[in-house]
Amino acid sequence: MRAVAYERPIVTNTTFESLGLNPALLSALTQKGYTTPTPIQAKAIPDVMAGKDLLGIAQTGTGKTAAFALPILHRLAANRIAPTPRTTRCLILSPTRELATQIGEMFKIYGAGLGMRVAVVFGGVKYGAQERAIHQGLDVLVAAPGRLLDHIQQKTLDLSSTEIFVLDEADQMLDLGFIKPIRQIVSRLPARRQNLFFSATMPGEIGKLAGDLLKDPVKVQVTPQATTVERIKQSVIVIEAAKKRALLTELFSDPAFTRCLVFTKTKHGADKVAAYLEAGGVEAGAIHGNKSQPQRERALQAFKDGKLRVLVATDIAARGIDVDKVTHVVNFELPFVPEAYVHRIGRTARAGKDGTAISFVAPDEMKLLRDIEKVTRQKIPSWDRRNDKQLAQLDASILAAGVARKATLPGGEDERPQRGPRRGGRHGDKPEGARGQPHRRRRGNKPAGAAPERPAFDPMARERQPMAPKAETGDGAQLRRRKRRRPSNGGKGYAKAEG
Ligand code: AMP
Repeated sequence: MRAVAYERPIVTNTTFESLGLNPALLSALTQKGYTTPTPIQAKAIPDVMAGKDLLGIAQTGTGKTAAFALPILHRLAANRIAPTPRTTRCLILSPTRELATQIGEMFKIYGAGLGMRVAVVFGGVKYGAQERAIHQGLDVLVAAPGRLLDHIQQKTLDLSSTEIFVLDEADQMLDLGFIKPIRQIVSRLPARRQNLFFSATMPGEIGKLAGDLLKDPVKVQVTPQATTVERIKQSVIVIEAAKKRALLTELFSDPAFTRCLVFTKTKHGADKVAAYLEAGGVEAGAIHGNKSQPQRERALQAFKDGKLRVLVATDIAARGIDVDKVTHVVNFELPFVPEAYVHRIGRTARAGKDGTAISFVAPDEMKLLRDIEKVTRQKIPSWDRRNDKQLAQLDASILAAGVARKATLPGGEDERPQRGPRRGGRHGDKPEGARGQPHRRRRGNKPAGAAPERPAFDPMARERQPMAPKAETGDGAQLRRRKRRRPSNGGKGYAKAEG
């Protein structure tokens, strides 16, 4: 696989008008500010409009959603029929709720002038509203496989008259174990239908699924030659696992980290990292599969609005997230699959912007790093921060800051999930060296692309203040003021409010 950065401004000489799209779609595109189609759009739209099956090999960020949404809406509008109750004319399967929501939004935006009935269904939310929407009959239904099967089994949905079927992010479906549900869903579709199949990669099982589903498909592959990760400044910091969290907080003393995605391997890890960052004074939220849908949406919105500087995510939750101006991607842990590295870092340097990707690599992750370097055909510059005593000190001070903040909460009780590990919970238990010395970042050890250091966050300064949990002075007042300034979730950071 080539290393790919997803970028938007790569457009073609074609115009949307020349593709013969419905005028209502053209005006929606003008309103959205799209002037020219991306390569996948220019290649796919005419064939999909003509009713052909399509195999699209492309990632998120290439404009693939519009590549299928526009011609589908065009076709549905060209043959206008009122959908019968409990049916949908077009079904789109998406692996995650976030992606399903985004696809649904795109259909609503592009189809605004066409009066289409569009609905999105996924798990983790109540059935009622979904059932009502389906009951009316739909033009377009975007769904995650699990919940869709529930609707089929409960006979609230009948797919026997579906005209167009789209399988998006098929390789991710495979990773998430959705192949069997997909086959079950497909068995409910009528034999005569149009099929569109999208996947970033084509592992064997996906190739087989595509072969079973598609009839004489047109193949469109977005060759990412010119869109390599060149614009993403990549670096690796070799570090002991236990010091990663302090290193992460240290990075955030650099104000250039304005909007940062941090990737962890596990959901629990994402929560822990977000909580630790919060304890260190960095506004952070977590997004992963254990969060409810409203929690995920809130965190994502806060990140988009700039209320959260950091969103800590697992690969699956981050999939399909389309957030502009992500300045940095940090791999807190490396992914097991090298391709996921490319997916992750492609969240930055979008829309023609530069971006930075920093990977924290513990000694036992070296093999994963080598695999990534092999797949992306590059050697990533690395810095060794093992045996860095400053980080151990910083870690101790943040743990202490977390405890201090807990002590200053109204009522003295913190019902929220643990913010940062509570090792050595009382001050007397803190590791040696936790007090006294202001933290200084070591020069020469900065990752490539990091801006000059600025004293944005000095946890030791907090440490040097006398501890007075009940008093409106010193840390107590400062922390209360910080809490009052927080967004509307009762002063609790998103990670915590969601827990
Ligand atoms: P997608 O690959 O569908 O996730 O799209 C990636 C991003 O590109 C989304 O933010 C779209 O809104 C945007 N986009 C799609 N098509 C175009 C286009 N022709 N011109 C500019 N932006 C586009």
